[in-house]
Formats: sequence, structure tokens, C-alpha cells
Amino acid sequence: MSGAETDPAGADRDTPVIRLRGAFRTFPGPPPVTALHPLDLEVARGEYAAVIGPSGSGKSTFLNLLGLLDRPSGGTYELDGIDTGALSEARRTALRGRRIGFVFQSFHLLPYRTALENVMLAQVYNGSARAGRAEAARRVLDQVGLGHRAEALPSRMSGGERQRVAVARALVNRPSLLLCDEPTGNLDSATALRVMELFEELHGSGLTLLVITHDREVAERARRTITIRDGRLSATGAAVER
Ligand code: ADP
Ligand code: MG
Repeated sequence: MSGAETDPAGADRDTPVIRLRGAFRTFPGPPPVTALHPLDLEVARGEYAAVIGPSGSGKSTFLNLLGLLDRPSGGTYELDGIDTGALSEARRTALRGRRIGFVFQSFHLLPYRTALENVMLAQVYNGSARAGRAEAARRVLDQVGLGHRAEALPSRMSGGERQRVAVARALVNRPSLLLCDEPTGNLDSATALRVMELFEELHGSGLTLLVITHDREVAERARRTITIRDGRLSATGAAVER
């Protein structure tokens, strides 16, 4: 896959994929909790960043904001230069479907649909044209090294294969951003390594990746590490050379 193919429609290469300004998230409680303190962050197109922090530090809260599953209590979030705070719920849902691919620890595949059908369902929900869906789904399965398993059921697959199907599903709509929440959390170390190698390849093809993890080895693979502790972010590591 070429870098050009991963470019989403309408997004300028120089516009950061993620731009947060003073974004924070509180939960009313009781007792009230500040899960994320006001933060500024930019993630450029093509970056591969990891977010690492202990349990309860605010990682999931952060992912939910970035993934448009939740709204900040204040501050702004621009995705591909689009001010997401100004959008209706319907527009946010459409933006999420078009621009963000999700990979979760527990795969979230339908066990009795084939790998190909699982990938194609993401296209159905995204409302993409019916023609060409199967071809696009086969292409992303090839890309994750599972072209030969397209007709297999996830219930008959290994954990590593399931996670690669989940990555294929996340890629099929050509997102701007791949958001991964503990993607290796359910995998043994050899299988986790294979998934990290896949992330490396995707990064090489120009995709923007943000991987949330509590595993230092997984985090160290990324070009940039963002540490989160008690709801406060501290960015370390250089932005990717472009
Ligand atoms: P992590 O994913 O790093 O384990 P979370 O983002 O889930 O951390 O949680 C960060 C903090 O916010 C924790 O103190 C947690 O209890 C609190 N929190 C998360 N979600 C809610 C919620 N819906 N209501 C109240 N408190 C929450
Ligand atoms: Mg969490």
C-alpha cells in the first residue's frame, strides 16, 4: 500500500491528524473526578505514537475523546482540522466511521461470520458503496497477511489471527487514524511481536497510529511515547522524521 492510498479524502498532509487545545474531562461523581487535566497535543500525519500509563491514569478516557466516543468537558479537539466540538452527534458518528479505525484488546469480532464478512461489516456501517466492498476487504486481509484465511471463522482462529482480522477491519475504510487500546493485551509475546511488526509496516505505509498500552515493550516500538499519569500527559520522544 502506498502512502498516497492511506491519505483520507480532503485532509491536507500538513494538517495535524490530532490537535487538542486545553481539552479536559471531568466526571461529576460523587465524588467528582478529573480524569484528564487540560492538555495540548498535536499528532502529525504519519506519526506512530504510544500512550503509556498505569491503570486508572486516564488512558481509556483519552482514547474515548480521541475516538469521538466521548466529548471533552472543555477545550477543543480538531481531527484532520475539523473542529469536532461544533458537530452534531450524527456528524460525529459519520466522521468516526470515515476517519478512525479502532483496534481493541478483545478483538470484538463476530465469531460466526467469516473474516471477510467481519471486515465487510465495517464498510456496511460506514455506508460505502456495495460494489467493490468484497474486493477492498480482500485487499486489507492480504495486507495483514490473512488473504488465505478470508473464509475462516474467527472462532477457529488463533488470537493473533483474530487481532489481524480486527486490524484489517479497522483499515478497510482508509482511516486517518488507527486507535489501538491495549492491542496486544490478550496475546502471547510471540504473537504480540507479529502484531507490532504489522504496526511497523502500516507506519511505513504512511498511516497515523496511536497505541494505548501499559506494556513498555509495545510502547518502545513507537516513534514517540506519551506518558500519562494521574490524568496528566507528558510527551517524550521526538516527533517522527518526515
Ligand atoms: P485507564 O484506562 O488508564 O485505566 P480510565 O481513563 O479508565 O483509566 O480512568 C481514569 C480515571 O477516571 C479513574 O480514576 C477512573 O475511576 C475515572 N473514570 C473513568 N470513567 C469514569 C466515569 N464514567 N465516571 C466516573 N469516573 C470515571
Ligand atoms: Mg483503560
